[in-house]
Amino acid sequence: MGCNSTSKIRIDSIADSYLCTGCGTCYGICPADAIKYELNERKGRNVFNVIKSECVQCGQCYSVCPGKGLNIDDQNHLLFGKLPKNPFLGNYIQCYTGFASNNLLRYKATSGGTTTALLNCALSCHLADGVISTHFPESNPTETEPFIAYDTVSLKRSIGSKYCPSSVNTILKTILKEKKRYIIVGLPCHIHGIRLAQQANQQVNKLDLVLISLFCGMNFDYRHIRWLFRYFGVDREDVVDLSYRTNGYPGNMVIDRQIGDKFTCSIEEYSIESMKALRCTVCPDTFGEFADISIGDVWLPEFSKEDHGQNMIIARTPKGQNLLLEASKNGHIHLTPSTPEKALQTNESVAKFKKNLYGRISFLRLITGTSPCYTQSQLPSSRIFALPEVKFYLKRIIKHTLFSILPPRLIKAFRR
Ligand SMILES: Cc1cc2nc3c(=O)[nH]c(=O)nc-3n(C[C@H](O)[C@H](O)[C@H](O)COP(=O)(O)OP(=O)(O)OC[C@H]3O[C@@H](n4cnc5c(N)ncnc54)[C@H](O)[C@@H]3O)c2cc1C
Ligand code: SF4
Ligand code: SF4
Ligand code: SF4
Repeated sequence: MGCNSTSKIRIDSIADSYLCTGCGTCYGICPADAIKYELNERKGRNVFNVIKSECVQCGQCYSVCPGKGLNIDDQNHLLFGKLPKNPFLGNYIQCYTGFASNNLLRYKATSGGTTTALLNCALSCHLADGVISTHFPESNPTETEPFIAYDTVSLKRSIGSKYCPSSVNTILKTILKEKKRYIIVGLPCHIHGIRLAQQANQQVNKLDLVLISLFCGMNFDYRHIRWLFRYFGVDREDVVDLSYRTNGYPGNMVIDRQIGDKFTCSIEEYSIESMKALRCTVCPDTFGEFADISIGDVWLPEFSKEDHGQNMIIARTPKGQNLLLEASKNGHIHLTPSTPEKALQTNESVAKFKKNLYGRISFLRLITGTSPCYTQSQLPSSRIFALPEVKFYLKRIIKHTLFSILPPRLIKAFRR
């Protein structure tokens, strides 16, 4: 993939375009506090703006921005000293399946609760001073907020996947001042931002960080949940708590309301492929390839009958492996060695989706005039889009248009 397409674009143009993942790294790193952000309802995510009069033009925001893309080959060489055997899975030390030992946590969490159990272990065993997680604050229960938990009690509201954006890396601004030991939980694109920040900024590089990435096949922007509220007749002002996947495996969406019963719907009902954020259709990283530990679901037939979930877990670095073994030794998680083949099998369809990445990138570049730039020599090298890519985006456009103009009761037929 050639990288010329975005080389002249500055941070403002990325932040304003579909390229922005809303990760918050630019805000977190800016030494002049010259970047402000707010939720843009039309785009369905935070939009980051440079205040020109305060900018000292150091260029760091552009260097750390994962929205413009990533040289995946370089990152593999820098972090692991080699390209991975499998370009869809990334480098690793050991794959495991596992789950939280605490049964209630396992039941409430998205998959097996391993992520929250690791954070609990890190805080209670003093392996970290703070952990960076994402919750729906009580004051605004339908929009995410990243926060630093210094004790295990504060972690309770962060349990569970939020299938909507979180500007996790804005937290860099705080942790750069505190200079302690942290664990950060994010999506693969957050991890890209932090790795780029470690390489561009000495202060970030000196921080003692362990990075946990969730697997990520796609995300929705906030227009999705607003649309669901409209579709199901839920008043947004009435919502006091929102879980996308809870109460067993694979779990349901549960919306707790001030008035009336809890509202519940299944993943099949709310996971609408064509409402996936446009940026996610050109994302190269499903398995969080540059984290210390990556954690996802176990979509395997042998686990399909379990009503308490399990996680697929990939230890990628010695730091990540040590945290996992420590958590297992201290009784916070159960770990069973697994294989890279099984890890790939858990998310086979999303790994397959990556195979046509360059086709989708070239199609989006043609219709939008811009595209992210990913350099990965191990991917199939076709750069030209074909009929499947055209059909994919046409279907998206038609469904998006129908969803926005038709009344909810007429939409059912076009849902999938
Ligand atoms: C947008 C998204 C897409 C995903 N896609 C896939 C997929 O395709 N395949 C797959 O196997 N797994 C996917 N996952 C991961 C899966 O949903 C679980 O998060 C993962 O298995 C960990 O489960 P757990 O029970 O250990 O997590 P829990 O113990 O419930 O903890 C979840 C942690 O994730 C953090 N978190 C939640 N939402 C966000 C967010 N939006 N941004 C940053 N941090 C967040 C929380 O702060 C919490 O620390 C996705 C997750 C998300 C958020
Ligand atoms: S160029 Fe430097 S000072 Fe200006 S917004 Fe970017 S990071 Fe901030
Ligand atoms: S650093 Fe993140 S939030 Fe900032 S412009 Fe780039 S993708 Fe968007
Ligand atoms: S699919 Fe990629 S860009 Fe989209 S949220 Fe997930 S990691 Fe970020």
